[in-house]
Amino acid sequence: MGMQLIENHVRRDRGLPDDFVFVRYEWLKDGSRVSMMRMDGGCCPLLMRGPRKGKPNYKKLTNEQTFYVTTSEIDELKRRYEIETGKCCACEGEGKTVTRVSVVDGTEYRTCVKCNGSGKAIV
Ligand SMILES: [Zn+2]
Repeated sequence: MGMQLIENHVRRDRGLPDDFVFVRYEWLKDGSRVSMMRMDGGCCPLLMRGPRKGKPNYKKLTNEQTFYVTTSEIDELKRRYEIETGKCCACEGEGKTVTRVSVVDGTEYRTCVKCNGSGKAIV
């Protein structure tokens, strides 16, 4: 599923400022089961020049914070997203998901397994 959904939830839930960016995600296991996601981020100014102008300048990260979102919280987010939008939560209505991102070959996609490429929520 798209990280954007979880990011937006944390952003809204914790009242994070607009310049807050997430820099790291990690699924944490409780025994053999994935139980929550750890998300790290901080406030970050944008690059003023160069080829990456307008992108966050991660070297100047301040006010670093860590958040934990449980898998049940994420399941609830997905459920709510599908009800609100009618879109498949795994591909966010695109009908395809990213399998690999490569600088050389570009981004590779495959047909979304959850909705079988329709992009619609299955209810
Ligand atoms: Zn889908």
